[in-house]
Amino acid sequence: MPEIDPTEHDITELGPEIADVDDEQELEEMLALEKGGEGREGVLTLIEDRLETVGSDEETVDPETVDLTDLSVADVANMVREVEDVEVLRDVLERETAGKDRKGAKSQIENRIESLESTGAESEVEYVPPAEKHPDLDHPTNDKRYVEGTVDGDYRDMWVFCETQRGELIDVSREMLGKAREMMDGYNDDHDADEAVVAVLIGDGVGDLTDECLAYGADRVVYHEDERLQRFRHRPYTEIFCHMCRDWAVDWRDYHEPRYTIFPATNNGRDLSALVQGELDSGLASDCSGLYIEEADISNPAKTGAPGETTTFEKVLHMKRPDFSGFEYSTILCIDKPHRDFHPQGASVIPGSFEMPDAESEPDGEVVEHDLELPAEWFRIEVTDFDALEGGVDLTGNEVVVALGRGIGRDPTRGIELGLEFVDAFESADLGLSRGVITASYQFDGHVADYVAEERQIGESGQVVEPELYVAVGISGAVQHKVGMDESDTIVAINTDPDADIKDFSDYYVHGDLFEVLPRLTEALEAGEFDRALAAEVSDD
Ligand SMILES: Cc1cc2nc3c(=O)[nH]c(=O)nc-3n(C[C@H](O)[C@H](O)[C@H](O)COP(=O)(O)OP(=O)(O)OC[C@H]3O[C@@H](n4cnc5c(N)ncnc54)[C@H](O)[C@@H]3O)c2cc1C
Repeated sequence: MPEIDPTEHDITELGPEIADVDDEQELEEMLALEKGGEGREGVLTLIEDRLETVGSDEETVDPETVDLTDLSVADVANMVREVEDVEVLRDVLERETAGKDRKGAKSQIENRIESLESTGAESEVEYVPPAEKHPDLDHPTNDKRYVEGTVDGDYRDMWVFCETQRGELIDVSREMLGKAREMMDGYNDDHDADEAVVAVLIGDGVGDLTDECLAYGADRVVYHEDERLQRFRHRPYTEIFCHMCRDWAVDWRDYHEPRYTIFPATNNGRDLSALVQGELDSGLASDCSGLYIEEADISNPAKTGAPGETTTFEKVLHMKRPDFSGFEYSTILCIDKPHRDFHPQGASVIPGSFEMPDAESEPDGEVVEHDLELPAEWFRIEVTDFDALEGGVDLTGNEVVVALGRGIGRDPTRGIELGLEFVDAFESADLGLSRGVITASYQFDGHVADYVAEERQIGESGQVVEPELYVAVGISGAVQHKVGMDESDTIVAINTDPDADIKDFSDYYVHGDLFEVLPRLTEALEAGEFDRALAAEVSDD
């Protein structure tokens, strides 16, 4: 007779009692009693489950000593399911690899390791340097020449590369300085710190621009002048920037590398940012349109070093960039990990993303000339001659710009014709295009095909226009388009979507089909009744 007669107990009492019974014989007797009594389904299952557990306990194998060649893949899977110690599992994996080396068995063991590591069953992720972890792989960091793998380095300041053209700062340089000032003022307040905005000028005659950099927000300007640097050159520009911010022995630069770096997302800025950040052994978020410094709670064990834990990282540059054609945003964070720093945290910035700051009339700050011999070898490629492209379309001087977007897709040739007719009805107007039209694979009839050219593209990677009137026809309003036109005096948008993004920055929104609206507006314009016609077209909502 067993100690517990299940027929005398309620099922809720039986659960915990049965869990303590380890004798298989006793459990068999309990099962017989229940079957002879009410034969309650739940009770039978309870006892049978316990029997199975007790039975399998007897066959339990010791993962540390078992000969894996005696086990099937299923046996290995059952065995590792019970193992909680990652070290033991790694040892099992090693023995399996040295023995039968079965793919299925190895993946069972690896999965178990992964699940333990991600649920926090182990307290620390073991650090294995990449070269040791993957000895057979031609791992990129094994080959990279300048990997520093710095740990716990000193980082300070926000460095801003100020691009110039024809001896002047370009607008995005001023915009970045203003943004950097704002961010570092906030940073210094929040952290009771005194870190600086450092403007970097490289080029021929750039010493003349240092005061302007101070006026737009820099605390310190470092510049390197050389007539050979008149045009952007990969090698010397990269070497100079990196030397300035990492290797230059000047008393104020008492840190390993900058905390943050910002570059313009122009053609040259994109090149330079990637080269510099690669050389400084960090990452880059390219084409950003939003930046702010904040703390970030991170639970990725690769970053925290401890699975299941959340660590608050401070002073993290949050780099927002448009994705999916500019309608969604990702925020990129460049975060250290236990055995590797990732500094400077670097971004390139879409021109026009930040406000143009007001220039200080009497700015304070320090100007430092960078001294470095530039070896002739860095200038092996010589620019012997250059020419401005001829025949380009300059949209900037027009009172009116009519820009066509992918809304013309139903009949692209007709769309361009209607756009041109509308343009012709104004005194001073020209045709612009969204990038959507340039990259679409529309077929155009010969008489309009010449108008569909990249030189008419408006936006981040095209022209920036500020006409009195900008008519955006069948354009959705992606941020990359917006930065090329949103300074226009008056913006009219024509769109079949009642809520396209462009509505948010339009003065007049015509909800309608361009193939119908454009001919009506052209006719009204020719009759001198444009304002009245536009007012009639504009939607009320
Ligand atoms: C690095 C980078 C740089 C870029 N640079 C630029 C740039 O410089 N300039 C630029 O423009 N884009 C640029 N882009 C692309 C940008 O993200 C968008 O994909 C592009 O602007 C979309 O063009 P769209 O508005 O013509 O097309 P869509 O986004 O497809 O919008 C078409 C619009 O037309 C409307 N429509 C459809 N049919 C009709 C109709 N019959 N009548 C009226 N409306 C209609 C639709 O409702 C929709 O709103 C860049 C992207 C990247 C990644």
